[in-house]
Amino acid sequence: MSTRRKFIKHSLGTMAALAVTSDLFPHILIPRKKDKLGVALVGLGYYSTDLLAPALQLTKNCYLAGVVTGSPDKAAAWKQKYSLPDKNIYNYQNMDGIANNPDIDVVYIVLPPSMHAEYVIRAAKLGKHVWCEKPMAVTVNECQSMIDACKNNKVKLSIGYRLHHEPNTQKIIQFRKDKKYGNISKVDVAAGYVDNRTTHWKQKKNLGGGSMYDMGVYPLNATRYVTGEEPIAVTAQQSTNRPEIYTEVDETMKFTLEFPSGAIANCETSFGKNMNSLEVTCSKGWYKLQPFSAYSGVQGETSDGTKIPPAITAAPHEQVRQMDDDAMAIIKNEAVMVPGEEGWKDIRVVEAIYRSAKSNKRVII
Ligand code: NAD
Repeated sequence: MSTRRKFIKHSLGTMAALAVTSDLFPHILIPRKKDKLGVALVGLGYYSTDLLAPALQLTKNCYLAGVVTGSPDKAAAWKQKYSLPDKNIYNYQNMDGIANNPDIDVVYIVLPPSMHAEYVIRAAKLGKHVWCEKPMAVTVNECQSMIDACKNNKVKLSIGYRLHHEPNTQKIIQFRKDKKYGNISKVDVAAGYVDNRTTHWKQKKNLGGGSMYDMGVYPLNATRYVTGEEPIAVTAQQSTNRPEIYTEVDETMKFTLEFPSGAIANCETSFGKNMNSLEVTCSKGWYKLQPFSAYSGVQGETSDGTKIPPAITAAPHEQVRQMDDDAMAIIKNEAVMVPGEEGWKDIRVVEAIYRSAKSNKRVII
């Protein structure tokens, strides 16, 4: 073999070796892992506009890279406000092009609940990680197909339960783990606000409306993170004070959950009443958060007189923490804090709540 041939053979061999030894020259041979992920928001309504997009200006591990919207006017306004390149602005017809867009790592579904399943599955098939707003979906079967689609396409799925990322919520979860106040016997939790709209998706059954899906998942999810248990039975009552508005969906839902330990949770949610409190009664004391599910100012106190001051004093810092945690889990390829299974568990209980409210009977979950 000539010296030149030997040189080429040696060089090719070395290059092949380097291609698999990524530690040596990762910047040349293997695409470098990003340290900041691009997020595309799907659905530019209230939550994307007022909370998520501003939060994505403050996040360290991710940023607003693109949008999917059905409205050309919103596309133009967002392009200008956030200096988005044309190639990262999609509509619902052409959004599958995201598959070939290296700027976008995560697709965040911020649509009415009845659309979550379709769009999460669509995004997973594009090979992008998926974040999905609460409630995860309308049925547990939808939740399962969303989880399956993300697993099959090897992408991560996170549900936008921001409170899991909120420090005072994390603090009371730790109280339970440390048994600081003994065993939990009772949880009283309520979340609601007055919604005077009449034609929004929150008042429409086919779009996944109703106080239980929209606000009720906060008390429900809280009972599960507070107790660390899954409820085994529920008794629920549905009511309305404004039958002219709430013709299709629940305005108010009260539900009592029974847990394997014997703990009981009394829960209430409504579109007709402002409520936001969580109180946990234990064998050796109590603690509460009020508000417990607000965008900022989650705070409380305990039976020994300790104040729990707000850890987050302004919006949108809960959303900043949520998206930074979720992006870091993707960057490090670690488990996300709130996987699809967490949404699945809530919607399984929501289905039981509606069965109980309809039948006026206690339902075993
Ligand atoms: P919204 O009505 O303000 O926005 C919904 C968006 O979906 C709009 O841009 C609308 O144009 C679009 N859309 C597309 N197809 C639609 C259709 N067929 N009907 C209605 N809208 C359609 O709602 P929102 O308050 O931004 O809520 C969106 C999601 O975010 C919901 O799942 C909601 O529960 C969730 N959310 C979460 C939080 C939180 O704190 N995690 C807070 C608010 C909302």
